[in-house]
Amino acid sequence: MNTRVILALGSNLGERSDILANAVADLVDHPHVRLREVSPVVQTKAVGGPEQPDYLNMVVEIETDLEPYALLAHCQAVEAKHHRTRTVRWGARTLDVDIITYGDLEINAPELTLPHPRAHERAFVLQPWAWMDSTAVLAGRPVAELAAEADDLAGLKPFEGAV
Ligand code: ADP
Ligand code: MG
Repeated sequence: MNTRVILALGSNLGERSDILANAVADLVDHPHVRLREVSPVVQTKAVGGPEQPDYLNMVVEIETDLEPYALLAHCQAVEAKHHRTRTVRWGARTLDVDIITYGDLEINAPELTLPHPRAHERAFVLQPWAWMDSTAVLAGRPVAELAAEADDLAGLKPFEGAV
């Protein structure tokens, strides 16, 4: 049975928009994953850590019959592929892929917490998600409302470049 899943992608190192585009292609280049929707890309200030380049963030909705841990392993394999990008900077990351929701499933394990424990307060997840799907709901609240309340909303803007 296919489950709808929201994945969040972020990159703040290297050719960020190319990395996101390639990562989406890699994520859906799997016989058990189908792409449903892609959000706009947003440019966001990195929160905490050393001074580092802005992030590009986006979310995608996929449909999959992979079990949650198999999907996590697939996401981590795609991350690993892109982490090979040469880098001399610390704190920055070529690619982060998080599972935000897996249908209505709730899991509370350190290796996989669903829904993602910080998604409800991260504008860089919530805002592109709300733009992609204006009816989206997280933890019983409209995602657009959660985005409007998020502390990091002020540091977010649509990314003008191509992806
Ligand atoms: P973060 O995304 O929090 O900045 P990492 O990408 O390094 O940090 O992920 C750290 C660990 O978080 C991963 O090894 C993974 O097992 C775990 N994790 C727990 N819940 C999730 C989730 N919903 N999506 C992705 N990773 C998760
Ligand atoms: Mg992660």
